[in-house]
Amino acid sequence: MKFPVELILLALVPVFLLFVAGELWLLRRGGRIGLYDLRDSLCCAALGLLHQGADKLAWLLVLPLYGWIYQHHRLFQFSDSWLSFFLLFLGQDFLYYWFHRVSHRVRWLWAAHSVHHSSTRMNFTTAFRQSLMYPLAGMWAFWLPLAWVGFPPEQVVAVVLLNLAFQFFVHTQAVPKLGWLEYVFNTPSIHRSHHAKNPRYIDHNYAGVLVVWDRLFGTYAEELDSEPCDYGTVKPVNSFNPLWVSVAEWRDMLAEAWRADNWRDRWLALFGPPEAAEEAASRQRARLQAQRQAA
Ligand SMILES: [Zn+2]
Ligand SMILES: [Zn+2]
Repeated sequence: MKFPVELILLALVPVFLLFVAGELWLLRRGGRIGLYDLRDSLCCAALGLLHQGADKLAWLLVLPLYGWIYQHHRLFQFSDSWLSFFLLFLGQDFLYYWFHRVSHRVRWLWAAHSVHHSSTRMNFTTAFRQSLMYPLAGMWAFWLPLAWVGFPPEQVVAVVLLNLAFQFFVHTQAVPKLGWLEYVFNTPSIHRSHHAKNPRYIDHNYAGVLVVWDRLFGTYAEELDSEPCDYGTVKPVNSFNPLWVSVAEWRDMLAEAWRADNWRDRWLALFGPPEAAEEAASRQRARLQAQRQAA
């Protein structure tokens, strides 16, 4: 029987757990075990499992669409070769960069992606912290062009998941900067600053596997010793309940869009950059408060 590609990440769980154990051992030895919090890590693990369930379901729904585009509308025919696999990897990593960048700048996608950033910790278990709402946010749409260009849907799924698997390894404070690798790959140092909310770091380093996209498109920020990372989101979620963490930003987003008294603020609440959405929300709060005082 053929291995179902959608299960690649689950199959790698033993490897991930081995690295969690290794990181715990290293941190304990270095007196930095405080970088872990049991409640936080359990919440991350639960979010990872919920995400896997939602993701499996989403692939079931979306694969026929990828298949239809691939069968009837593909632009090229690639032979199975290392070169075509490399092109697929490059194309998917490029699209991942844009998916990730849009996820930080458009509230609709941030509502899902903020889950990944909502921990104030940074360790290997932070990588498990994913949103079960990605299918609703529309993550799958970013990989459609790959099927259209001419890559078989199963290969597309495999590369999407292998990219995520690679990213597990950059969620750690146990690894310092890695010399020349910092110029080519997403590394722990690069991804640490991505998870920081310091003004210097926020909305930078969107890389999946290759950091060349950030360097090319002007979104690279180097982690500095003089500016330690302050992990988490500007608007903290303050909960270890995985279900609440999954829906908190969706609830705020929909409530703010509903309360808005004009279409511009409604649009900003749903599709504006998160800080513009927050400004629109505070305008609406001020309006409601003035109405209450007048009543
Ligand atoms: Zn991010
Ligand atoms: Zn991350």
